[in-house]
Amino acid sequence: MSEVVALGELLIDFTPAGKSEKGNQLFETNPGGAPANVLAAVARLGGKTGFIGKVGADQFGHFLQEVLQGLGIDTSGLLVTNEAQTTLAFVHLTADGDRSFSFYRDPGADVLLCADELRAEWFGHTRFFHFSSNSLTAEPARSATHKAIQLAKAQKALISFDPNIRLPLWKEPHRIKEQIEACLPHVDFLKVSREELEFVTGCSDLSEGTLWLHDKFGIRVIFVTLGVEGCYFRVGEQTGMQAGYTVKTVDTTGAGDAFCGAVLYRLLQISDPAACEVEQLAEIVDFANAAGALSTAKMGAIPAMPTFAQIEQLRKTVTSP
Ligand code: ATP
Repeated sequence: MSEVVALGELLIDFTPAGKSEKGNQLFETNPGGAPANVLAAVARLGGKTGFIGKVGADQFGHFLQEVLQGLGIDTSGLLVTNEAQTTLAFVHLTADGDRSFSFYRDPGADVLLCADELRAEWFGHTRFFHFSSNSLTAEPARSATHKAIQLAKAQKALISFDPNIRLPLWKEPHRIKEQIEACLPHVDFLKVSREELEFVTGCSDLSEGTLWLHDKFGIRVIFVTLGVEGCYFRVGEQTGMQAGYTVKTVDTTGAGDAFCGAVLYRLLQISDPAACEVEQLAEIVDFANAAGALSTAKMGAIPAMPTFAQIEQLRKTVTSP
């Protein structure tokens, strides 16, 4: 029984790992992909999770399957194909820990997930279904994502969406907005970055942009994560801001996913998350800010997801006199 189910890309993030004796760049094979990262964050905190996606029948695919299983993530929904290779991403880091990506996905196995391969039992007892826009880039994964939303809603699960836009993954970048907007009416919890808010709403003002999303699509809870600054959020007509935590950042890959996973884990502890109030959300956002910050203090995404004790320790250290 998975309390949180996520669907989407599961890939290898090749993260920079110093230089060889010859002076060439070395890369480490880190498991990644936003929806899997979110589940890794929930699982590290103790939540029950299940992943839906597709990898290639290659060494990387087997490795990713083992990693998810090692984290206790249910992989009944992880399919393996001979028709494409596991998707690969190379991460390039700047001196301050920020990064850019090169993707090898033409198509990657993750894009080949089909709607008719989804099974209703994967969503039994699910409380949250989470996805990103990277499974909306092309068919057949796009239709599979929409079918999954319907299967999750049929089980009364709440829908969590982090667009996590990666422009190089889109062959038709002019369709990103339309594809995201097609999903938004179903979304209960939306997490965007400041740039994504502006991209989707055309508005850089946090209050106006989130109000537009609330009014147009009926999304009650919206988080706008602001990197080291923390997170601005909206709950219906009310808004709040929680400052971030300062840590020694080495790699920001997966910070947004650590944030999302921490939010979902905390929402699991509430009997009616859809009705949570602004004060309750402020405390959850503070917890998630600490999770996001801690994830930047280690290389990679999945290996950097913090435990509950580490998060509470950081919160105590900063708030105690
Ligand atoms: P990603 O695309 O890597 O998933 P994102 O743009 O979705 O990231 P961010 O806003 O970068 O999300 O990060 C999510 C949260 O993690 C922030 O709201 C903040 O709490 C925390 N965070 C991110 N970067 C840092 C940092 N350098 N120092 C401290 N906290 C950070």
